[in-house]
Amino acid sequence: MADPSNPSEIARETLRQLAMRRTPPTPDNYHKLYHEIAGTADTEAPFPERFVRRIAQQLPRDTAERQRLARQLDQALAAGNTAVAEQSLNQYFACLVADKPPSWNELIANLLRQWEGRQLGWTTARKRESLDRVLGASDANTLYSRLQALLRAWGQAPVDPEIPEAGTPSPVPSMVEADIPPLGGPPAGEAAEFVAAHRNLLALTMESVVPAFLHEHPDLVSDAGLIARHARQATDAQSLSVVGTQLRKFAHRLELTAADDAEIRAGLLDLLRLLLQNIDELVIDDQWLSGQIEMLRDVVDKPATPRMIDDAGRRLKEVIYKQSQLKHNLTQAQRMLKEMLAGFVDQLASFAETTGSYHDRMGECARKIAAARDISEIGHLLDEVMTETRFIQLEAGRSRDELSLARQQALAAEAQISTLQKELDNASHLVRHDQLTGALNRRGLEEVFARESARAERHDLPICVALLDIDNFKKLNDTHGHQAGDDALVHLARVVKENLRPQDTVARYGGEEFVIILPEATLEQADQTLVRLQRELTRAFFMAGDRHVLITFSAGVTRRSNGEPIEAVLKRADTAMYEAKQTGKNRVVRAPNDNRTGLPPGS
Ligand code: GH3
Ligand code: MG
Ligand code: MG
Repeated sequence: MADPSNPSEIARETLRQLAMRRTPPTPDNYHKLYHEIAGTADTEAPFPERFVRRIAQQLPRDTAERQRLARQLDQALAAGNTAVAEQSLNQYFACLVADKPPSWNELIANLLRQWEGRQLGWTTARKRESLDRVLGASDANTLYSRLQALLRAWGQAPVDPEIPEAGTPSPVPSMVEADIPPLGGPPAGEAAEFVAAHRNLLALTMESVVPAFLHEHPDLVSDAGLIARHARQATDAQSLSVVGTQLRKFAHRLELTAADDAEIRAGLLDLLRLLLQNIDELVIDDQWLSGQIEMLRDVVDKPATPRMIDDAGRRLKEVIYKQSQLKHNLTQAQRMLKEMLAGFVDQLASFAETTGSYHDRMGECARKIAAARDISEIGHLLDEVMTETRFIQLEAGRSRDELSLARQQALAAEAQISTLQKELDNASHLVRHDQLTGALNRRGLEEVFARESARAERHDLPICVALLDIDNFKKLNDTHGHQAGDDALVHLARVVKENLRPQDTVARYGGEEFVIILPEATLEQADQTLVRLQRELTRAFFMAGDRHVLITFSAGVTRRSNGEPIEAVLKRADTAMYEAKQTGKNRVVRAPNDNRTGLPPGS
C-alpha cells in the first residue's frame, strides 16, 4: 500500500489500480481513484471540459483582447491543459466586466467630428467607402468596435492642409460671409455683438431678400416683414425661439406657395400649347399665319425661361394682329357683296314689275286692236302702245343706268379693299418677324437689342453684336434663280438659329444681311461663335434643285459699350464686315469698341 503522504507514490498506485480495474484512464476516473487511495475528500469538482468547449465556441471575439483570450482558451482546451483553460476563461470574464457598455452617443459625436475633419489621405470618398465596409458588420458589438477602430485610424492621420476646414467660408466669400468671424466663436466680449449681427442678417433676409421673390403674394411679404421685426426685437432665447416657430410656419407656407406657383406656370404653358395645337382650326387659311403658329409652337416646346415667354408673346401678338386684319377685310368684302346683290335684286324686281305690267298692257292693246272696228279706234290704241313702249324704254334705260352705277360702286369697293390691303402691308412694321426667314425683322431687332442691352448693363455682363452678309449672293440668284436665292436665305437663317445658344437672337437686317445679338458673350466668344456658324454652314449642304451650293458669309463682330445705341454698334460691325469682304470674304473680323467702359477690348 502506498504511503498516502507521498503524492508521487499515490499517483503511481492510482495508475496501477486503474490498469488492474480496467477503468478507462480519463482525468475524471484518475481524479476519483487518486482521492480514494490518498484517503482525501474529493472536494474539487472535475473540470467540465466538454461544457467549456461549447462555451468557448460561443464567446464573442469582438475586441482584440477578447479575441486573444478566446484563442488562448481554445489552445489550452486542445492541449488538455485545464489549468490554463480555466485561467483563460477567468481572464475572459474579467475582461467582459471591465468593458463598459458601448457608448453610441459618444461614438456618433466622434464620427461627426472626424467626418468633417481634414485628415491627410482620407478624402470624403475614401471615408465613405471605408464606412460602408464597416457598416456591413453582422451585430451591434462588432459594428461598435469596428467603428471605433476606423475613427482611431482617421484621428491618427495628420491634418491635410489642402482641404478647407468644414464650416469655414468658401474661398470666394460672399459679402455677408466675409463679415462673419471664423468658426470657433468670437471672444466672450464680442458674443453679444455677434448674435446681434446674426439677428440683423436674418431680419435683412426677411425684409429684402425674401420679398424679391414674392411680388404676387403680398400677404407673405407682410408676414416676412413681421418676422424681420420680431427678429430685430428678439434679445433673449425665448423670444428668439418664438421667431424660430414663426419662421418654420412661414417656410411651410412658402413651400406650398412655390408649389402652387409652379403648378400655375405649368398649367398656363399647357393651355398655351393646347391653344396652339388647335389654332389651325380657328384661323382663316393663310400660309404666313400657319408659319407663325408653327414657330410659336417651337418656342413654347422649349423649357420656360423669361426669354421664351417674351418670344412667344411677341409672336402671339403678330398672329392676333394679322388675324384681326384678315377678319376685318373679310367682313368688309362680305358687306360689299351683300349690298351689291341686294341692289341688283331690287333692280331686277322693279324691272320685272315694269316689264310685267308692260306685257299686260301690250296684251290688252293687242286684244283691243283685234277687236277694233275702225281705224280711228286703232289710232287711239296705237297712241297708247307708243306711250307704253316709250315708258318701258325709259324704264329699261333707267335700270341700265342704275345697274352700271352699281357696277361702278362694286369696282370702287374692290379698289377700296385693295387699298386697305396695301395699307395693311404698309402697316407690317407692327410685325416683328421677317416673313420669309422667320428671323426677327428690324423692328424686332431693335426691341431685343434694347431689352438685352438693359439686361447686360443691369447685371454688368458683356453683350456683342455681329453683322453678316452672304458672299456672292447675286451670283447665286443669277445662276440658280430668285427662288433658290430665297431658299438659301431660309436655309442660312435655320442653320444659324439651330447653332446659337438660347439667349442669342438672329434678325434679318436687309436683303442678304443678318444681325446676331450675343448676350453674355465676350468679343472673343462672339468671334468664336461666328466662326463656328461658318463651319456649320459649310457642313449643312444647301441644294439648289439637284445641285449642292456652298453658302459662305463674311461677318463683323463687336462688343457694345455701356449706353451705346444700336446704330453706333451696327456701324462698327458693318465696317468690320466690310473689311472681311475686302480681305477675301468667308471671314470674321473683330471691331474693338471705343472702350468707354474702361474694359480692355476683347475682354
Ligand atoms: P458680296 O459677296 O460682296 O456681298 O456680293 P453679293 O453678290 O452678295 O452682294 P450684292 O450686294 O452685290 O448683291 C446682293 C443681292 O442680293 C442683290 C439682290 O438681288 C439679292 N437679294 C436681296 N434680297 C433678296 C431676297 O430677298 N431674295 C433673293 N433671292 N435675293 C435677294
Ligand atoms: Mg449685301
Ligand atoms: Mg452679299
